[in-house]
Amino acid sequence: MVARSLLITGSNRGLGLEMVRQLVLAPRTGNPKPEVLIATCRSPHQAQELCEVADNNKNVHVMQLDVTDESSYGSFVSRVGELVGPQGLNLLVNNAGVAPKSTRINMVRWQQVTDTLTVNTVAPIMLTKALLPHLKTAANQVEGDSLAVKRAAVINISSVLGSIARNEQGGLYPYRASKAALNAITKSMSVDLRGNNILVASLHPGWVQTDMGGKNADLTPTDSISQILNLLRQMTDHHHGQFYQYDGEQVPW
Ligand code: NDP
Repeated sequence: MVARSLLITGSNRGLGLEMVRQLVLAPRTGNPKPEVLIATCRSPHQAQELCEVADNNKNVHVMQLDVTDESSYGSFVSRVGELVGPQGLNLLVNNAGVAPKSTRINMVRWQQVTDTLTVNTVAPIMLTKALLPHLKTAANQVEGDSLAVKRAAVINISSVLGSIARNEQGGLYPYRASKAALNAITKSMSVDLRGNNILVASLHPGWVQTDMGGKNADLTPTDSISQILNLLRQMTDHHHGQFYQYDGEQVPW
């Protein structure tokens, strides 16, 4: 089992939707399915595929969330508490993200950088902060100080493009900066939340055929997510505060 309860942002398409799909199919692969799967998206009335999954699976709860709308967090977090109950929230996947197309130094625009940072960087910090009480509740259900995703975890969906060590092609200022900063956040959270027994890691999903990755990408969403779910099931203290890619290989910061 990945986790009893989990919350995935940006679940209406791409990698988020594929993660929801594979988690509800989990019993077919011999894994128990989550009891509470909270799939968030900006516009549930337009999220037809996600709503179909929820209609056929009572454990899937579609909730409206624009991750940049901090004013909605209070009521959102209360509703999450009602759904997960006294056992708390085991796993938060900060998946929602944007990637503006313009690349080079002469093309980059101020607003593009700040908008990208708001979604990819600021929102994961503030949403994790808001959901911490539920994550701590989940972590406290288990004795001892070992870490596991099924106990309590924050997984930040980053990108190899945020790796400073791997940046040989330059450009992509908004996106690279937002994911490099997200990685810095992963590191700080891993220090701050170790005492609470909450595992924190950054994950690069590979180059994947989604709206963001494009048709020429290496991996299908099915391939990427099936490997990510395997990795999540195996994560321990060893992975805490680190940056991994979908197949379990460590990525340099
Ligand atoms: P998609 O563009 O297919 O999907 C992005 C998702 O993020 C959509 O559900 C979108 O919702 C949501 N989103 C964007 N802005 C907001 C917001 N303000 N509030 C809530 N949700 C929002 O991208 P992918 O599925 O490919 O990407 C998922 C994650 O994986 C991202 O963090 C991305 O950076 C990362 N990644 C992807 C790679 C790839 O090759 N695909 C490679 C490396 C990392 P809406 O439909 O409403 O816009």
